[in-house]
Amino acid sequence: MQRDSADTAGLVIDPLGLQALIERLASMGFRVVGPALRDDAVVYDDITGIGDLPQGWTDRQEPGRYRLERRQDDALFGYAVGPHSWKKFLFPPVETLWSARWDDKGGMAISPPETSQDKFAFIGVRGCELHAMAIQDRVLAEGDHANATYAARRQEAFIVAVNCGQAGGTCFCVSMETGPKVESGFDLALTELLDGGEHRFLVEIGSDAGAQVMEEVPSAPASAVQIEAAAAVVERTAGQMGRSLDTNGIKELLQGNLEHPRWDEVAERCLTCANCTMVCPTCFCTTVEDHSDLTNQSAERVRKWDSCFTMDFSYVHGGSVRSSTRSRYRQWMTHKLANWIDQFGTSGCVGCGRCVTWCPVGIDITEEAAAIRATPGGKGEA
Ligand code: SF4
Ligand code: SF4
Repeated sequence: MQRDSADTAGLVIDPLGLQALIERLASMGFRVVGPALRDDAVVYDDITGIGDLPQGWTDRQEPGRYRLERRQDDALFGYAVGPHSWKKFLFPPVETLWSARWDDKGGMAISPPETSQDKFAFIGVRGCELHAMAIQDRVLAEGDHANATYAARRQEAFIVAVNCGQAGGTCFCVSMETGPKVESGFDLALTELLDGGEHRFLVEIGSDAGAQVMEEVPSAPASAVQIEAAAAVVERTAGQMGRSLDTNGIKELLQGNLEHPRWDEVAERCLTCANCTMVCPTCFCTTVEDHSDLTNQSAERVRKWDSCFTMDFSYVHGGSVRSSTRSRYRQWMTHKLANWIDQFGTSGCVGCGRCVTWCPVGIDITEEAAAIRATPGGKGEA
């Protein structure tokens, strides 16, 4: 059960305490997933202990650019966010809905959906990512067409959040009011403290499950100095945002500028590669494909992540509704920042910056919104 507000008194653990926390979660049957270094990036993968974490590494991010660099300290969570988001585990990129096979008697045996039994513990979830999960919950767990496997995984997930100690060059969570401090939706929240030659984590308890887990983890009560130091970490990070987005009246601004010439300019650069939608932690669009084997003995139906940047996505008998790059980029950006508010009551963007960093040509959603704001006057009709 989530608590109304985090236990702000807090506990303190050291890196060995974090190791004990990971081991405790594994012993409770959780599949523990956290940040790890793979292919020169911080990604989310299975971990067994603090040795798997990206100790002493940070990420430098700019539009279309991501590089790892050594830090001057041994921080375990000293990076911003990488190309993966937690949706990869809660809402996998490919999922079999059913499979069928001819049986010996010439009948068709249909197997139920393949569902992963994994019960996840996520280590290192950031404020923007908690907000992204809440956005996906609205569609996938609470909507009229809820996804039962997503809802089950989400319900069982144990979340160890981290207050960011380092903002990335493309982060703008402060503008979207999603970070860098985690406010709710976690079982435990850590703030990494490295000042004064000590390596510690302030632990806030956000749920009864979190409190129970901490009973078995060696910890000490947090001192007033440590609580102040943790608040300073968040404050410092909030001042490091690489980007900002003026959200004032943004729904009306974008919906009133559907014929703005900026859409043509961005379309000249956009490759419609769909990277931005794949890395976005809130994008949830999918398609369904049917496959059969070459001998026609078995078939399966799979659901796969899809993107509004593909031609097929808006295909309706005879052709695609959004056949131009301009219309597809405009659809994506106006959905994220404007139409999402009409649909779900919140922005569809949490300011994580992934779409900016991982766009191969460095298109920046904050820059595009600012350009339209600077010269409004387009018509409000598509
Ligand atoms: S905005 Fe960038 S990442 Fe998105 S489809 Fe266009 S080129 Fe690809
Ligand atoms: S639109 Fe871009 S910045 Fe916003 S949540 Fe998606 S990936 Fe992050």
